[in-house]
Amino acid sequence: MPTETQSEQRYIGKIGIPRAMSYYNYFPFWYGFFEALNIQVVISDKTTKQTMSSGSALVVSETCLPIKVYVGHILNLLDKGIDKIFVPSIQSIDHKIYNCSKIRGLPDLIRNVVKRDFTIVEATLDKSEKNQGLYTFLKEAVAPFGIKDEKIIRQASKEGWKVMNNFKIMLNSGISFEKALNYAKKGQVVIVNNQKSYPISVAVLAHSYNLFDDRISMKIFDKLEKLDVKAYTAEQLSIEQLQEGISSLGSKIYWANEYEMTGGAGHFIQNSNIDGIITINAFGCGPDSIMVERISRAARKFNKPVLNLSIDEQTGEAGFITRIEAFTDMLFRKKRASIINKININENAKQESSAQKESQHR
Ligand code: SF4
Repeated sequence: MPTETQSEQRYIGKIGIPRAMSYYNYFPFWYGFFEALNIQVVISDKTTKQTMSSGSALVVSETCLPIKVYVGHILNLLDKGIDKIFVPSIQSIDHKIYNCSKIRGLPDLIRNVVKRDFTIVEATLDKSEKNQGLYTFLKEAVAPFGIKDEKIIRQASKEGWKVMNNFKIMLNSGISFEKALNYAKKGQVVIVNNQKSYPISVAVLAHSYNLFDDRISMKIFDKLEKLDVKAYTAEQLSIEQLQEGISSLGSKIYWANEYEMTGGAGHFIQNSNIDGIITINAFGCGPDSIMVERISRAARKFNKPVLNLSIDEQTGEAGFITRIEAFTDMLFRKKRASIINKININENAKQESSAQKESQHR
């Protein structure tokens, strides 16, 4: 087994990856890809109050929370002495499917607000306007390390997909983001079969960077578990289920993150095992305001209760918990009332049928 120093020696350089935004969608791929090319991946620390406040201090106050957090993570990597930081510009993930302007312009934003000496590893993915494929994107990502050979890049991307696919399998099975990532990085696939039964279930819908960042989502999954509520997310659904979910709400996909919001909602709203929907959206987010409105309207049609939680850096944990507790309490009562109602209907039906039989015998 190679020693730690030998492992370190194989690296030709380091790349910093902010633990924010697209990290929550693509990091397993990037990890497998860069490591296969002997580029050491350094991630910023988990989001803290300091990450939020240092990021917020550099951007205008109207900026959405995830972007403020992203800026904070860039500063964290710089404080660790990392001088090459991966800031991709993911414009469009498929034909005519776009990210919001803030995500598209991330490299420009960082260049303009973080006035420190470092290289922004800026790769652009745009499958609409320029029809620029994944390999062009990957070539741009490794150019600062002097790697140009397309064959080597393609080979490394296979390693990336391996880690990504293993990660997805585990996330789909319901393992937490953190655990799935740790196993996938080690090349392992661990499936845990949770047999516990829960009185109620909810779907929690949000962009991955809001959902899986414990600071932003205020550890919502732990809170729901403590309340004995089973939580589902759009990440557990297949792409086909998400596409069906979007069309079932009569929408067409435009925003890249519409899958995890509208797609998940379309699927879960019609699922009778799901008692309610919780959305978490960033205050001031344009795409979210449209999607959450659409989700709320569809949920009303299917009589599915919805709790919309809007977040910014001022959001207090106490208020957040109170709203979740009140919502889940209402779901418990609603479910109990519907069970009692069903029992009463069955009892009444039984009594009616025995009364009918008696009158026929007379
Ligand atoms: S989609 Fe919304 S939350 Fe995400 S970066 Fe854009 S404005 Fe911010």
